[in-house]
Amino acid sequence: MNHKRAIRVMPEDTYNQTLVGNVHPPLWKNPVASGRYNLVVIGAGTAGLVSAAGAAGLGAKVALIEKHLIGGDCLNVGCVPSKGVIRASRAAHEVRTAGRFGVQINGDVEVDFAAAMERMRKLRSRISFHDSAERFRSLGVDVYLGEGRFTGVDTVEVADQTLQFSRAVIATGARAIALPIEGLADAGYLTNETVFTLTERPQRLAVIGGGPLGSELSQAFHRLGSKVSIFEMSDHLLGREDSDAAAILQTAFSREGIELLLRAAPKRIETVEDGKRILFEQNGEERSIVVDEILLGVGRAPNVEGLGLDLAGVDYDNKSGVLVDDYLQTANQRIYAAGDICLPYKFTHTADATARIVIQNALFHGRKKWTSLTIPWTTYTDPEVAHVGMYERDAKEQGIEVDTFIRPLEEVDRAILDGEEEGFVKVHVKRGTDKILGATIVASHAGEMINEISLAMVGGLGLKTLANVIHPYPTQAEAVRQAADMYNRTRLTPFVRKAFRFWLSLARTDFWDRLRHYKENARDELQRILCALRNER
Ligand SMILES: Cc1cc2nc3c(=O)[nH]c(=O)nc-3n(C[C@H](O)[C@H](O)[C@H](O)COP(=O)(O)OP(=O)(O)OC[C@H]3O[C@@H](n4cnc5c(N)ncnc54)[C@H](O)[C@@H]3O)c2cc1C
Repeated sequence: MNHKRAIRVMPEDTYNQTLVGNVHPPLWKNPVASGRYNLVVIGAGTAGLVSAAGAAGLGAKVALIEKHLIGGDCLNVGCVPSKGVIRASRAAHEVRTAGRFGVQINGDVEVDFAAAMERMRKLRSRISFHDSAERFRSLGVDVYLGEGRFTGVDTVEVADQTLQFSRAVIATGARAIALPIEGLADAGYLTNETVFTLTERPQRLAVIGGGPLGSELSQAFHRLGSKVSIFEMSDHLLGREDSDAAAILQTAFSREGIELLLRAAPKRIETVEDGKRILFEQNGEERSIVVDEILLGVGRAPNVEGLGLDLAGVDYDNKSGVLVDDYLQTANQRIYAAGDICLPYKFTHTADATARIVIQNALFHGRKKWTSLTIPWTTYTDPEVAHVGMYERDAKEQGIEVDTFIRPLEEVDRAILDGEEEGFVKVHVKRGTDKILGATIVASHAGEMINEISLAMVGGLGLKTLANVIHPYPTQAEAVRQAADMYNRTRLTPFVRKAFRFWLSLARTDFWDRLRHYKENARDELQRILCALRNER
């Protein structure tokens, strides 16, 4: 059966044509459904792809349904394009700031925005092969292009066919939330779904929302030459992170020239002759700025609409998405969910990890809990902000007392040499023990450094063990070991210190030599007596 709906990704250059050819081939023929599937997967983002490939690899008969672009947000409008653009922006920043290393760039630094975006499209199209419909077919997965919808407790309809299943996975992800700001819809705005189609640099860009997406793209566009203003309603960027981590980022943003509008709420947008006027309130004051483009990054809404969830007996709500238990099972025991559609942690690696759990639980009666996962995450700003486990406030809420060890990067040789001293490694342990409860790292490559702490947490290794791990010198990751050393120093209680002092003071005398001498004499004397006794007998 032919799949008819042609999908266009702008600009329609050779890279985007390759992308579409891979992840939504225009002439794709859906398989003809027959028999019952072990697993039907709705949505082919990370969660869907991992579920489908894993199950098929284990011998299951699997159907994978995608209505738009296989690869979902991550490949098409999320991680992949954003990290491509961020890399280009980092290059621009490094060239512009090379003077501090004694490297003089004579003349202006020109950023070719169109070329930076083209590079991103080129890399995205290359990576898209991994997620291609053809590749999944070759893995033994029946790939259906079209909108999937439950028609009963064990049936799904797609492109005029009905698929029967023993188990199903809902992996339909999430989408950008629009804000009910007066005039916004009329003025027009960008989201992550459209921003990567740009080929011309917006000269003045307002980013609404200072979360990970807003912060990453604000810095990237600023470095690529846009004049960026970022709106955040609360009093710091990255609301989920500790304020000391956000403060470092804010200092970096302000130094670079990004306009930081904290505690600022846009009220109305007007289309004016030279752009879009944003009227906003900040600290009780009415203000306005005029920009060329507005990018919204204010959160994600789960894609629950049009799925026939009521017919399938699956509970959901519009905020949390599909409701699952610890085992990722929905109210319909045949149906599971994975990824952004059901998780509060909306990341590619959590989509991947939960899909793996679903395979075990849905197909092999596994009892793996997603709530037992140790989940790290990173915001890819410069410096990066990475976190795993609990924040101090979480521990407080749960009545757990913590000891916190903080190693500032300005005390780490490699960070000094790299000129990347803004940041820290902060580790929380359960008070009186070395059990790691959580950590935050702010550093140039915090996303790489956090893995050591995640590994320790997953492996049940305490902070004491990290102090014994030899880190090559000089690396910024030494900060992790140094934080562990700080923990070790706390084990030197006044009593232990006193005992050590006494021991060492004895070492300064000939006490130990005399003791050894007495011991040897005593041993000789004993042997002599034993010998004499033996001779007498
Ligand atoms: C700008 C941006 C940057 C990001 N950067 C990172 C990052 O650096 N690291 C990270 O870990 N995460 C990042 N994320 C988050 C990451 O992209 C998501 O967490 C991840 O894509 C979730 O995967 P998923 O499979 O759950 O959902 P999705 O990727 O959203 O996939 C769901 C799929 O289901 C399809 N679908 C929906 N309804 C139906 C239906 N009825 N029938 C058929 N198909 C349907 C959709 O078309 C979509 O393809 C970023 C997100 C954004 C927006």
